[in-house]
Amino acid sequence: MAGTNPPRVAVFTMGGTIASVSHSGPGVRPRLSADELVSAVPGLAEAADIDAVSFRQVASPELTLRDLTVLAATIERRFADGYAGAVVTQGTDTIEETAFALDLLLDADAPVVVTGAMRNPTLPGADGPANLLAAVRVAASGDCRGLGCLVVLNDEIHAARFVRKTHTTNPATFRSEPAGPIGWLAEGTPHIALRPIRRHHIPVADDVDPPPIALLTVGLGDDGRLLGEVERLGYAGVVVEAMGGGHVPAHLVPALASLARRVPVVLASRTGAGEVLRETYGFPGSETDLLEQGAIPAGALDGLKARILLMLLLARKEEPDGIRAAFPWP
Ligand code: ASP
Repeated sequence: MAGTNPPRVAVFTMGGTIASVSHSGPGVRPRLSADELVSAVPGLAEAADIDAVSFRQVASPELTLRDLTVLAATIERRFADGYAGAVVTQGTDTIEETAFALDLLLDADAPVVVTGAMRNPTLPGADGPANLLAAVRVAASGDCRGLGCLVVLNDEIHAARFVRKTHTTNPATFRSEPAGPIGWLAEGTPHIALRPIRRHHIPVADDVDPPPIALLTVGLGDDGRLLGEVERLGYAGVVVEAMGGGHVPAHLVPALASLARRVPVVLASRTGAGEVLRETYGFPGSETDLLEQGAIPAGALDGLKARILLMLLLARKEEPDGIRAAFPWP
């Protein structure tokens, strides 16, 4: 509408490929500031009234859950000041974890949209500017409120709870199994086709250090020696990415059972899609055996997301019953 102020959107940049340029050594490094990133995108100023903040400037493997609790608190303050939405730019390597963490930490209806790039700004076909513009349009859109944290790349809108990075270089790397993207952008306009049915809110104060949680993938012939070290190394919990529907070699069961008596042991599947089973197989090392021994089924969460959920629950000092109730998913 003519004369209406454009919605205010805060853009927090955290580095990654989208902000990476050449330096004196090999490859590219995240160097662009928030202002540099935002000013390089044609059309952004018309899409929203942008406040650009350089929040971190790192490759995304450097990010921690603590960065995200601080970011979530910062975003909450912006929303309290009347911002319509927030965009977070970062490396794509960890988006499936950071976006899921923000989804759990934040309870706001205003859209929080995470984006990045697969091709850095020095390459032909760099996707960062288009992704940033799309993310801002989603963050500014009233239709995208109340959906939790969203991941927008390649003109697709994904719910953080489902999305995964599935390819090392393809710009269409982000996929949401089994639901698919919940929406898309066409000619710059966001369209939402599906709405996730409920939200999960796990607030954690920004001055708390989440405890260490081990993530172990079980491979063929695994002799379990790593598993045997988990407790001695001081892990507060473990997520086991088991085979198929939630299976391990039978000789791992005593170690898992003994761990489960002391710390939360969450059972996920290494397949990356589908729910962990509960009652289908009855062999030693099967899901029924492990659940009987106290393992907590991760539902449809993969190991990476189950680990984020468990870290946040333990950061809140959740009791065992509360932890068990927070899984399975969704
Ligand atoms: N390849 C990564 C990216 O897409 C690097 C990172 O995650 O920082 O941004």
